[in-house]
Amino acid sequence: MLTSMADRDDPREHLRRFIRRSLDRNQPAGRFAGPRCEASEDSVMKSVNPYIGPRDRMIIEQLAAKGVRDERVLDAMRHVAREAFVPEELREAAYADQPLPLGEGQTISQPYIVGAMTEALGLEGGENVLEIGTGSGYAAAVLAHIARVVHSIERIPALARRARETLRRLGYDRVEVIEGDGSLGWRPAAPYDAIVATAEGPCIPPSLRAQLKPGGRLVMPVEDAACGQALVRLVRGTDGEDHVESIQPVRFVPLIGAEGWPDEDAWLAKMRADAGESFSRESYR
Ligand code: SAM
Repeated sequence: MLTSMADRDDPREHLRRFIRRSLDRNQPAGRFAGPRCEASEDSVMKSVNPYIGPRDRMIIEQLAAKGVRDERVLDAMRHVAREAFVPEELREAAYADQPLPLGEGQTISQPYIVGAMTEALGLEGGENVLEIGTGSGYAAAVLAHIARVVHSIERIPALARRARETLRRLGYDRVEVIEGDGSLGWRPAAPYDAIVATAEGPCIPPSLRAQLKPGGRLVMPVEDAACGQALVRLVRGTDGEDHVESIQPVRFVPLIGAEGWPDEDAWLAKMRADAGESFSRESYR
């Protein structure tokens, strides 16, 4: 099927292609096949939403419809069982359009943010990836569906242990979970094709930049004078020059470490000084 550039940029065309593939996949086959599913893309586009699974709905309504276009990312997020990464009592909310608490004052990021950050890394398959902030292990699992290997660092030992166990149980054997300060990167597996940090730093840590290959991409939230926090992407040029661009305003928990914030209190004091009475710790993901 030929797709024009205009179609590729049209969110409804993305949605339609997902539905088309979903219909193809669900056709009965073989000797015991029942009647063919007669639904058309048009009828599905109009009415299917209440009847498809929560993960497909997340892909369509929270990712494709909000502009995540990379089919590798959409496909990876179709495969990862998000419910396995959230605390048991919150499983029913696993596909809600919001971050969820993980314990230890931390969160599993909103699905859209995981999709947007993974897309910004520009992965094509075969990469060596570093993630800072393992949390539940969910984003590491998404990355592992595309990349060759994922090294993920978490500073809170209880979270690192739980994520390692979840990932092992689900068979993600290409994810290595490390306990430690990810603001310094992880030298044993450097250099990386891509680095993603899921906690906000005062700036891009020099150690992370230094551990990127030429042409490598780094995506992370950093302090921003205009909007508080912005998601930025740094591309390490082959000429040694960095190219940094701001992607969108975000709200993340702090990156605490030698090349991040010194501790949560320092970050809280700074956030309160900037936002005054309107600051609420709960709105940071
Ligand atoms: N990616 C995670 C997921 O899929 O569940 C969500 C991560 S949560 C928004 C941010 C995480 O960064 C927290 O678990 C926090 O403990 C961790 N973190 C903060 N500073 C860190 C540091 N210096 N090194 C490693 N992890 C850090």
